Amino acid sequence: SAQHVAVIGAGLAGLSCATALQAVGHRVTVFDKSRGVAGRMSTRRGEGWACDHGAQYFTARDSAFVAELARWRQAGVAAVWSPRLAVFGEAGQHRQDGALQRFVGTPHMTAPAQWLAGNLAQAVRLGQPIEAILPAAKGWRLQSGGAALDDVFDAVLLALPAPQAAALLQGCAPELAHQAAAVRMRASWAVMLTYEQALDLGFDAGFVNAGPLRWLARNSSKPGRMGAESWLLHARAEWSEANLQTPPEQVAAELQQAFKALGGVVSERWTAHRWLYADIAPNPTGVAEPGSAGPAIWDARLSLGLCGDWLGGGKVEGAWLSGQAAARRVIAGV
Ligand code: FAD
Repeated sequence: SAQHVAVIGAGLAGLSCATALQAVGHRVTVFDKSRGVAGRMSTRRGEGWACDHGAQYFTARDSAFVAELARWRQAGVAAVWSPRLAVFGEAGQHRQDGALQRFVGTPHMTAPAQWLAGNLAQAVRLGQPIEAILPAAKGWRLQSGGAALDDVFDAVLLALPAPQAAALLQGCAPELAHQAAAVRMRASWAVMLTYEQALDLGFDAGFVNAGPLRWLARNSSKPGRMGAESWLLHARAEWSEANLQTPPEQVAAELQQAFKALGGVVSERWTAHRWLYADIAPNPTGVAEPGSAGPAIWDARLSLGLCGDWLGGGKVEGAWLSGQAAARRVIAGV
């Protein structure tokens, strides 16, 4: 029978899950604390410029995601990106895979999530941070803005980075909280640069295997981009974690110096963003490997579940697949 399901998080995992649940007739409400959907598939917009500052591109291997990507391309919200790729530092660490196809959202990285949210019609509620999951007589209620919301849900799915899911589950499902808390996610500083003129360095993107940077990209080289010339710098996880409290001015200066050393050009027009949960930390112990629970977690007794990139391998494709897997568990009821 039709259920009312709450999905917390309107990133790709949550929207994937909500879409699959709605397709079989469940009533779904998606909550996100942000003003927009897409989570870490994000684009920063400034005056006359825009720049993807989370996920940079994605790949598609699983046949179900390949089919989803075909729908996105049909809808005009994703396209192939074929950057001229450079590798800096020890080349062995990052091979240039000529056969690998890279995709981006068009005209922004947020576009696929916005398209999915559009198809969900009225089901997405933005600007609603969920602060607690409260047991109700039959089902669950959610707390936001210091008060319990009116709706009672038959099931709740958390489509959040593992540490944020763990915090929300602490009070209502300690065992699930424990599973999520076992996954460590790592930070990444991002610096966006804009220029008055085109900046052609002979490459459009690069893997960096030495120094503070790990990746840089000419955002303007992605398909469908408008506005001022923009470049994106991502710092490596180790550097980002060591500089969590460093002032943005200093982060921007240090990362721009590293960019300059690779042939880049320093810009006075920069914006820095600190991502706390960019990727999954490698787990040297081999215990409680992220994803060991399968691509989603579902507790049928509690009618609580989890999905997110961290359950599906830590990338855009994994986030979408995890959302699908969570929906299958809810639909099957086991
Ligand atoms: P998210 O996108 O994080 O969605 C979670 C949502 O939950 C967010 O919208 C957030 O606002 C919301 N939320 C959080 N707490 C609450 C709350 N309490 N109440 C309500 N809402 C809440 N992937 C690739 O495939 N290729 C890449 O090149 C790549 N590069 C990356 C670079 C960076 C810097 C980062 C940060 C990520 C990168 N990724 C990349 C990873 C990719 O972005 C993620 O795997 C994917 O977008 C995760 O989707 P998700 O739905 O699991 O989580």
